[in-house]
Order: sequence, then structure tokens, then C-alpha cells
Amino acid sequence: MPELQFVQGDITEQSVDAIVNAANSSLMGGGGVDGAIHRRGGPEILQACREIRRTTFPGGLPTGQAVATTAGRLPARWVIHTVGPVYAKSEDRSDLLASAYRESLRVADEVGAVSVAFPAISAGIYGWPMDDAARIAVTTAREGATSVERVIFVLYGRDAYAAFTSVR
Ligand code: ADP
Repeated sequence: MPELQFVQGDITEQSVDAIVNAANSSLMGGGGVDGAIHRRGGPEILQACREIRRTTFPGGLPTGQAVATTAGRLPARWVIHTVGPVYAKSEDRSDLLASAYRESLRVADEVGAVSVAFPAISAGIYGWPMDDAARIAVTTAREGATSVERVIFVLYGRDAYAAFTSVR
């Protein structure tokens, strides 16, 4: 079971083995944390994503799955790209959000990452209510059957930080 830590800040600045990107299925970059990671990490990350699209996931990375690439110029060694579900009132997609965390930790194990930083997956452009996103994130990471020793939730803004640190 990993030790959980919470910080308010920018995930691109974290000196950890791997940072997780709340990507979209295309893996071709986007807004929010995805845009920040590609901007600060440089073109090497996009190049690696293109290669993954060409070889493993021609149709895009399915929701709830994860893949690792170089972190380019970032202090981290790897970026683990995962796709969280878009929030829907009419349908419970919690399992897919939990899967995004679980699969990211599985990929972290695969590459040998011991410290992993996560953003609040799906809680931005994908519209997931922050309190619920935080509950799913923290409970899933806590239960993780993983060799990762340290999970750092890097929350962008005070409200996200408050939501994550309030989960019991
Ligand atoms: P999604 O499409 O999965 O909702 P977003 O990137 O839109 O992904 O948002 C996910 C969370 O990441 C939001 O809470 C957003 O405020 C946060 N975020 C945006 N930029 C950064 C950053 N540089 N570091 C950490 N978190 C960030």
C-alpha cells in the first residue's frame, strides 16, 4: 500500500519517478494538465505518443487505460498517460475513473516507478464534481496492490486541495 501525500501545485514541477497525465484518447495533447505537460516537457513526449498510436493503440487509448512515455525535459522520468471518463449525470462511470488510477499504478509498476504524482483526473474539462473525484482517487490509490511506495496528489488550486485532504 503506497503512502499518500497531498500538495497544492503544478504537477509538471514534481521531482518524482512518474507523473500521470489526464490525457484524452487521441494522446495528441489538449488543454488543462495535458497541455501543461506537453508544453513544459517538450516535443519528445508527443513523438512518443505518436509512436504509441501508430503501434499499440491506432484507435486511441481507451478510457480507463494507461501507457507510459518519456517525460522529455520534465524533472520526472516518465509520463503515464491515462484517459479518465467524461462525467455523466445519467450514468455512473466511477469504475472507469477508478480504473484510470489503478491502471496508471499498474503501468508505474511495469516501468519500476516508486513515486508517482497524480492530478485530479476527470475533474477539469471532463466535468467530474471535485469531491466525488477526490473520493474515488484517494480510495482507489489507498487500496492499490502496487509496488509504488509514494503517491502524491498534486492539486491545482485550493478547492481541489481541500477536497482531496477531506477524504476519510
Ligand atoms: P480532465 O480532462 O481529465 O478533466 P483537466 O486537465 O481538464 O483533465 O483537469 C484535471 C485537473 O487537473 C483539474 O483539477 C485541473 O485544474 C488540474 N490541472 C490543470 N493544470 C494542472 C497542472 N499543471 N498541475 C496539476 N493539476 C493541473
